Amino acid sequence: LTAAETRVLDEIEEQDIDFLRLQFTDILGTVKNVAVPARQTEKAFTEGIYFDGSSIEGFVRIQESDMRLKPDPDTFAILPWQNREDGASARMICDVIDTSTGEPFEGDPRRVLKNALERADELGYTVNAAPEPEFFLFEEDEEGRATTKTGDYGGYFDLAPKDLASDVRRDIIYGLEEMDFEIEASHHEVARGQHEINFEYDDALTTADNVGTFRTVVRAIAAQHDQHATFMPKPIPKINGSGMHTHLSLFTEDGENAFHDPDDEFDLSETAHAFIAGILEHAPAITAVANPTVNSYKRLVPGYEAPVYVAWSDRNRSALIRKPAARVPAASRVELRSPDPSCNPYLALAVMIHAGLDGIERDLECPDPVRENIYEFDEQKREEYGIDTLPSNLGDAVDAFEEDEVIYSALGDHVASKFVEAKRQEFEEFLIDVSEWELDRYLETF
Ligand code: GLN
Ligand code: MG
Ligand code: MG
Ligand code: MG
Repeated sequence: LTAAETRVLDEIEEQDIDFLRLQFTDILGTVKNVAVPARQTEKAFTEGIYFDGSSIEGFVRIQESDMRLKPDPDTFAILPWQNREDGASARMICDVIDTSTGEPFEGDPRRVLKNALERADELGYTVNAAPEPEFFLFEEDEEGRATTKTGDYGGYFDLAPKDLASDVRRDIIYGLEEMDFEIEASHHEVARGQHEINFEYDDALTTADNVGTFRTVVRAIAAQHDQHATFMPKPIPKINGSGMHTHLSLFTEDGENAFHDPDDEFDLSETAHAFIAGILEHAPAITAVANPTVNSYKRLVPGYEAPVYVAWSDRNRSALIRKPAARVPAASRVELRSPDPSCNPYLALAVMIHAGLDGIERDLECPDPVRENIYEFDEQKREEYGIDTLPSNLGDAVDAFEEDEVIYSALGDHVASKFVEAKRQEFEEFLIDVSEWELDRYLETF
């Protein structure tokens, strides 16, 4: 056993842990888990835990279904929302191993992100990332099912007593802190019932792990208050949706921020400019992965602080990429504003990183920033500025994804083909459905 693995065994003993949940995610980003009695932890480290991968979304075909989970001891955490008197549970996030080869399974999203980080490493970089997940808190009905009702009519940064959900948010934050999150801030967002909790940046792999944990903790603790927390991108039309802005920076081997250049007008290095150029070039294909649901495209419309146009800015929030003000050189970074919290964080970070690195490797030219409100541009002005539009629906985004070799291969053939298959089917289902809107509009008119 490694030192980290031994520490986990000690902690299980000291904290009297009964059950261990071994977690991983499917291609759609859903956290899956296998629970084992805690006394099997040592075996989980030495031999791994076997499971049948054929029933996990997009993992494998039926005939090749044996997979092995290899827990990452650095991700050990005790689950805070379980009653300790009944015996505590802990979790570890796992890598998935293909038992037929003994190699990491190519369909494991965590593996896909590790591949992106290996490419960054070959170029001499480590990647830091920080997400800003937004979510809604809704009331449950008598049957315990989610509604879109909120008891709260607060707005941006509002304080109690308007912000009735602040108790829930406080308990969520306690839960996250118990799971070792470093919470930086939390606030009521623009829409009624909408919240944001920011946690500290970390290396990209830890950040992706954290997003999965974050969604689990937020939902579990909201449920204890009979509230439903949702990361659906646009639950209510005509008000803000929920984004997951993602801040990225590259660091060199000697710990310098490769995005910082004090002599540049925007404090951004050549490397950062090329990285931005790479993301702009691959933006349509990235959208399929960072905005992977039919509903994601209801958010990416003008007027609700979500991006629609492929441009960057050092000031305004209507652009796809923003350069946030940085107080210290280490904080120089770029913020991609398109991702939403329905994405698979491993895959979304992987495609953003590959796109940026592609910009660096090909030394792509970064366009000038756009400082005006792009929502107000007409088509002619956009053309003049050379500003493209993001795909306007999931079908178009998947088309763009399939046409973009860099982004497609960022996921690897296995994940990319399963992803396309699942998303095409999802979009088809949506296209043939008859919505509430259609009935309201046409049923009595015709
Ligand atoms: N909710 C907005 C979005 O969809 C962001 C609002 C904000 O954080 N300023 O991206
Ligand atoms: Mg924010
Ligand atoms: Mg926000
Ligand atoms: Mg932001």
